[in-house]
Amino acid sequence: MATRNKIKMKINFRRYVLYLIRWQLSTPILAPVVAYFKNSPSIFGTKEDWIGSIVANFIGGLIFFWVDQFIFTSKGLEAQWEVQENIACVDCGKITRGYRLVKTKNYDRTKHNPQFRCEKCSQKKTEELRKRGIDV
Ligand SMILES: [Zn+2]
Repeated sequence: MATRNKIKMKINFRRYVLYLIRWQLSTPILAPVVAYFKNSPSIFGTKEDWIGSIVANFIGGLIFFWVDQFIFTSKGLEAQWEVQENIACVDCGKITRGYRLVKTKNYDRTKHNPQFRCEKCSQKKTEELRKRGIDV
């Protein structure tokens, strides 16, 4: 178990370093842009413009690694819903705003005939899907 955690940490550390390097790739864009807008004596930026950009990208990388990781791996953000106005609920027939679950990690209705449900019926259906083991 301890070995497994160590391996996982090592992989995450590598990703973190790669991510910080990736942020530095935008330094050649940031430094001249900053130089241009502050009327720097050099159009390519002074040494200070470059150092400032490197430091800013380093700080940005340290922070946004965690933000981006959350965005790209959050289970709560995996479910894709489609919302449409004035639909007839497929369960109760009510004309209202309709909801339909399109895709989650283990559920895919992207190529199916869309079935919209009113809020109440959609909540019932969502509960039913959860009982069937769908990640929603
Ligand atoms: Zn309904």
